[in-house]
Amino acid sequence: MVFSINNLFNNFYFSSEVVELVKPSYSIDSPGEKVLLLGNEAIARGALEAGVRMVAGYPGTPATEIVETIAKMTKHFPEIYVEWSINEKVGFETAFGGSMSGLRSAAVLKHVGLNVALDPFVTACYAGARGGFVLIEADDPNCYSSQNEQDNRNIAKHALCPIFEPSNVHEAKEMTKYAFDFSERLKTVVMLRSTTRLSHSRGDVTLGAIRFHETKGKFDHDKERWTFLPVNARIYRKIMLERFKKIEEEVNNVPFNKVQLNKNSKVGIIAPGLPFAYVIDYLKENQLENEISYLKLATSFPPPRKLIVNFIKNLDHVLVVEELEPFIEEYLHIFAKEVNPDLRIIGKELLPRNGELTPHLVEIAMNTFLNRKAPNHPAEGRNGIQSPPRPPVLCAGCPHRACFYALKGAEKKFGAKFIYSSDIGCYTLGFYPPLETIEACLCMGASIGMAHGLSKSGEESPIFAILGDSTFFHSGIPALANLVYNKSTVNVLVLDNLSTAMTGFQPHPGTGILITGEQGKRILIEDVAKGLGVKFIRVFDPYDLKSTIDVLIEAINYTDGPTLLISRQNCSILDVRVKKKKGDKIDCYMVDTTKCNNCRICTSTFGCPAFFIDEETNEISIMRDLCSGCGVCDQICPENAIQRID
Ligand code: SF4
Ligand code: SF4
Repeated sequence: MVFSINNLFNNFYFSSEVVELVKPSYSIDSPGEKVLLLGNEAIARGALEAGVRMVAGYPGTPATEIVETIAKMTKHFPEIYVEWSINEKVGFETAFGGSMSGLRSAAVLKHVGLNVALDPFVTACYAGARGGFVLIEADDPNCYSSQNEQDNRNIAKHALCPIFEPSNVHEAKEMTKYAFDFSERLKTVVMLRSTTRLSHSRGDVTLGAIRFHETKGKFDHDKERWTFLPVNARIYRKIMLERFKKIEEEVNNVPFNKVQLNKNSKVGIIAPGLPFAYVIDYLKENQLENEISYLKLATSFPPPRKLIVNFIKNLDHVLVVEELEPFIEEYLHIFAKEVNPDLRIIGKELLPRNGELTPHLVEIAMNTFLNRKAPNHPAEGRNGIQSPPRPPVLCAGCPHRACFYALKGAEKKFGAKFIYSSDIGCYTLGFYPPLETIEACLCMGASIGMAHGLSKSGEESPIFAILGDSTFFHSGIPALANLVYNKSTVNVLVLDNLSTAMTGFQPHPGTGILITGEQGKRILIEDVAKGLGVKFIRVFDPYDLKSTIDVLIEAINYTDGPTLLISRQNCSILDVRVKKKKGDKIDCYMVDTTKCNNCRICTSTFGCPAFFIDEETNEISIMRDLCSGCGVCDQICPENAIQRID
């Protein structure tokens, strides 16, 4: 059965039901009070205290909670405008429009999101800010939830954008506030750089006063400043360079940069951002805080030249403790040439250029650098406990699993292997056994372009570009238009679970719900595709395996242009959560052991994590707490041994 849109629409709940609007500690107007906040909440609080009036972004771990926290604040501070934009570029441009009108504004994104927003970012740095404008971004060393671990300090340098890097949760709040002042005073775009560890750590924060700024923007009609015709761009390039000279001076006075000089010490440590927290912990733990010279860097770009030169001029050795690229280390080589050419600079010799720094790695590097014989703590943590490995897996009842299973069924029926390129989302987990479908993934929106290139290469196998509902709006639409325009025959498969599930169930245009829970305008993916000229469009429920396979085969046999297939079914986690909240019954399935022949087809080819093998009986069973009642396994079992519990 293929669902009609009306049936689906009427049966779906929307993410607004999980948007909680209660008064949290980060919203209270109680200066001096100490509260425990997540790093991202502290950044949001800093923006509130700075008087931010416009915030726009796109969900992306580890930065998502910053925008969500500000959205929750709007209940108490309705003068703040906040939105999930359809992608980071649009979010950046929206927030920059706020700054152009004189309002304090912030664009929020994860590190790779800045690649999407790079075009407006670089030119916005020419124009500079009118209302204080902070680009809040979070890098992801170790790629915990990202396709790369790029160090965005290099991107900020490329745009001559000053960077602030907090080293703890309280400082994240204070520095955000300071960044808005700095931006407005020097008329510059500012980047506030967090990383996964800081964004997702909790710490004590002392609340400050909430500042109330004007709530209505007023455009200044300074058209030479805002219109980047070549004639204006040349002028603003010079203005930016002049502004940058002032910034280079100013960063020496930023109070978050701290120097501890010990005249008897010939060795020193320099650490920007979070790694400084590991350094100071080490020094305190080893009673070296007053013996070793150290420089805590809050402004990694431009680096505070005077402070650094003064710090290194009498040292013999210096260790740079920084994550990812040798960014500060390279500057040190330049500065040392002028004032202390014999200085021995150590950085990536002792610390990795990839992955996340940990207290353990910093401890080993410090012990080596200081030639100390102190025993290193165990890598797994101070208590010696290591968490068990948890391989990534699609959740029980996930509609994506059903769709991947149907794709394998369609391959069998068609008699050939298909090619699958993917965007970034939960569905990229189709890479893993037993589904093993996804075999290419670059970034959001790339699934369609890669599939198009493969199809134009002469490759004759059926090709599926797989993306999610949120990524369709993020960057799938231009790529789909390109398919139509260039007469491609790629099959575009949108796994629509009506939320941005991977980053925490944020709504998007396909749900029609705004970040604040209010009703916006719903945009249907199929309407967009129709408008772009796609002729073959099908919407189906992946929980119905037979119908899904039939639709997939029909699409493969269609050769008069691209096809657009929408596999639409609720994210199972969200579905169960909403049902529980409403008190609705959640269906559950069981294995009838009198019928089961232990063939293990259900576990070896489908792999729902609700299945387990009873160690005592060696029989297949279903965990009732995990089963979401999707009923797909019931369609797979050849013995009809899986049944719904009534
Ligand atoms: S019904 Fe079957 S496939 Fe669906 S969640 Fe339960 S055990 Fe998993
Ligand atoms: S597929 Fe059916 S018969 Fe085979 S192990 Fe699973 S429940 Fe038992």
